[in-house]
Amino acid sequence: SAAPLLTVNNIEVIYNHVILVLKGVSLQLPKGGIVALLGANGAGKTTTLKAISNLLRAERGDITKGHIDYHGERVDQLSPSALVKKGLIQVMEGRHCFGHLTIEENLLTGAYTRSDGGKAIDQDLEKVYSYFPRLKVRRKSQAGYTSGGEQQMTAIGRALMSNPDTILLDEPSMGLAPQLVEEIFEIVHRLNKDMGVSFLIAEQNTNMALRYADYGYILENGRIVMDGPAEKLRENSDVKEFYLGLG
Ligand code: ATP
Repeated sequence: SAAPLLTVNNIEVIYNHVILVLKGVSLQLPKGGIVALLGANGAGKTTTLKAISNLLRAERGDITKGHIDYHGERVDQLSPSALVKKGLIQVMEGRHCFGHLTIEENLLTGAYTRSDGGKAIDQDLEKVYSYFPRLKVRRKSQAGYTSGGEQQMTAIGRALMSNPDTILLDEPSMGLAPQLVEEIFEIVHRLNKDMGVSFLIAEQNTNMALRYADYGYILENGRIVMDGPAEKLRENSDVKEFYLGLG
């Protein structure tokens, strides 16, 4: 079969010279896949995504070992913006919109790495609005005054403006009502099906993530303790007991 789009090989992360947080994490994202990275608070999900998109801070003593291949090329020495140019972008946990900018201005900041002109950017803005009609209605609103759901949509929309083929999505459900979580996962599903965007999604909401993902990895204490097709994980008794709250 074809080589995976993204391969993470035995990543270790040490924070601040001493705190070993990832103890050898390996995972794969196939082209066109939706992969869930699951685990409790503090298991290392965010750290894994940051290691991939090179957002850890070497100057503060964060050390990353292992290697990462993307499109068949080793990328673990590339800067976050070089990765964005190659098509890989992270949507951070907590959304990080520019509160003082409007929704539309926030979306346009996502196009900063692009070298193609205004027309293509306008077309992509319309495309983002077609997936998130709510953002079009609210486009002149200051992002800091919009709802949590609108800010999450803005963060995903802004990532789309870089024309990515891979989005690392950190905890999209955080702080959102169940209906909105479902709305966001539906849009992720459509972006995946229509545009072929591949997703690696870190989630504590195991139930929702496994409904939309093809494959899942479970992280405990900095190690992958289980992985498999989403439907298999949903039926697994340990997953049910510890992660789905079904007993
Ligand atoms: P969450 O859902 O809370 O983001 P997570 O699974 O994403 O959980 P991480 O945020 O990756 O977990 O954190 C993993 C561990 O690393 C935690 O014990 C956390 O306290 C620790 N940690 C995270 N960032 C730092 C840092 N900058 N310096 C030191 N320790 C950190």
